[in-house]
Amino acid sequence: AVRTVGVRKAFSGHEVLKGIDLEVSYGEVLCILGPSGSGKSTLLRCINHLEMPDSGYAWVDGQIIGYELRGKALHELPVRRLRAQQSQLGMVFQHFNLFAHRTVIGNVIEGPMLVRGQTREAATKRGMELLDMVGMAAKAEAWPSQLSGGQKQRVAIARALAMEPRVMLFDEPTSALDPELVGEVLEVMKRLAAAGTTMIVVTHEIGFAREVADRVVVMIDGEIREAGPAAQVLANPSDPRVRTFLGRVL
Ligand code: ATP
Ligand code: MG
Repeated sequence: AVRTVGVRKAFSGHEVLKGIDLEVSYGEVLCILGPSGSGKSTLLRCINHLEMPDSGYAWVDGQIIGYELRGKALHELPVRRLRAQQSQLGMVFQHFNLFAHRTVIGNVIEGPMLVRGQTREAATKRGMELLDMVGMAAKAEAWPSQLSGGQKQRVAIARALAMEPRVMLFDEPTSALDPELVGEVLEVMKRLAAAGTTMIVVTHEIGFAREVADRVVVMIDGEIREAGPAAQVLANPSDPRVRTFLGRVL
């Protein structure tokens, strides 16, 4: 369902991604682990083209993100078409970026109405189902400022799902939360995984990776140093630097 092919990215001469090849199948959950600064967020941002790779590309459901193929050459897509593609990649960030001036349900229906042209009625019906799924239906009329971090993050997940994304990208969705709120967000993500959602999850939650991930990759210094089934990578990594990293976080 998702592939990255030779994705490279440098910032002012410092190479942050050194040719990343990934493959995620339909319904699969891939967890990306790695130390701070190893390039995990940059990789997610290259997948949805918030950051333009220097070379290589991401491929989602038959589409190359940000480009079209003419003959044998990749040409950049016009912004309007890039935005349409990006709306199909659900992104949940570390810092829940809800619209402060919209209610909970308002946050969820905005995209479907503006981008997908759904009626308010249809978007609201589906939005309430999604809020129910993340346990937030009772707060539909609340404002973001009235919610806890965990509640905001669950609304952010519902909002991303409302666009019916082909894949959900999570960038450390629980690392800004108070410890007692982490569980409720991971619970929602487990439910999504069980429902067959294709997910790429950058996380420091090793327990979640062990329990939910079909595959785990460990990034160090812009490279994938270890990849495989969660049990194997977490219990028995072959790369010494990966062993050191996991030894610190396990
Ligand atoms: P963390 O676990 O702390 O979130 P990460 O693995 O997500 O780390 P990235 O945020 O991808 O790491 O950053 C990788 C490297 O790229 C870091 O050295 C960072 O300083 C650098 N970097 C990221 N974005 C930019 C940018 N827009 N401009 C310059 N340097 C950047
Ligand atoms: Mg990051």
